[in-house]
Amino acid sequence: MPLCIPYFLFLRMAASRTLSPQIRTKISYTLGSTLLTIPTIFLFTSDTAPNTFRKRFMLLWPWEEQKLINKANECVENVLGSEEIIPENDSRNKLMNHILDRLWKNNKNNFNFKKPTIYLIKNDEMLDGVSYPCSTITLTTCWLRLVDYDEDLLAAILSHEIAHILQNHASEFYGLSFMFKAISQLHEMFNNVLRILPGINNENTWMRPLIYLQKHSQILEREADLLGQEIMAHAGYDPAKAIELWELMCNVTSTQVPDESHHDDGHGVRHSSESSHPSKEQRVKYLTENLINVQKIYDKTITDNNKNFKSFKCDLGLRRLELTIYAIFGIH
Ligand SMILES: [Zn+2]
Repeated sequence: MPLCIPYFLFLRMAASRTLSPQIRTKISYTLGSTLLTIPTIFLFTSDTAPNTFRKRFMLLWPWEEQKLINKANECVENVLGSEEIIPENDSRNKLMNHILDRLWKNNKNNFNFKKPTIYLIKNDEMLDGVSYPCSTITLTTCWLRLVDYDEDLLAAILSHEIAHILQNHASEFYGLSFMFKAISQLHEMFNNVLRILPGINNENTWMRPLIYLQKHSQILEREADLLGQEIMAHAGYDPAKAIELWELMCNVTSTQVPDESHHDDGHGVRHSSESSHPSKEQRVKYLTENLINVQKIYDKTITDNNKNFKSFKCDLGLRRLELTIYAIFGIH
């Protein structure tokens, strides 16, 4: 920024010698209106995230958000058409819907949201979970096996995905990545001109938006983690289980996690590469620190409900059946 001042002074000197007064006035008006546009954009795009009151920029207009939702719907249709979806009457599906129901019923008054739809994809090798802005969540069966069909751990996964939807993270991230893509394209177009200017010809300068996006993605993940713990507590699921989940994730190999992220195209928020997510150790740390805040909610929920929460009953049979199959055929 300080470099701008000598540039402007130099340009002004050069302009006063070479350009006519009329052209100089035109340029001053254009420059003035551009400088006014920037704070106006800031004013119109500044927003407060619901529930957490984090200051953020929402660069999409409401009709663009609607477009994004339609696009996400198309994307879900494609997933349903190309992947093997676990049928509704399957115990695994019933288990997930039981958890979703409990999370939704006990949180709908606190957060005021539409009940999301969940689709289980048959894939035991890849840990893939996407939350779409059209209030849809897709999870692979690999997650269920990772947590050994534990209801509380599955509630931790689902609560995190619900939090992404509640906070409208897909739209927020899409707007930012769209803006940064535009900046990168401008950089490519005027690369030759920019190369001459000292201070901004460094390639690293143009990598900054990408690093900023990765950092921002980590902020969104953290927000979903912490809000997810609150969602769990309101539904009588132990929020400490979220810590256990990420401790479990510490042992997962990177080949089990998808590389590319759905973030960029705005279709949804996906658990992908490490660079856009906080490290597993960091997650364990801040989730543990947050326990002090959510434990009170959890304790109150349990007392108010007289410990009456119903756990899913069929999971044990299902797990035993799978373990028997593994024992006989040695499939892992
Ligand atoms: Zn996430």
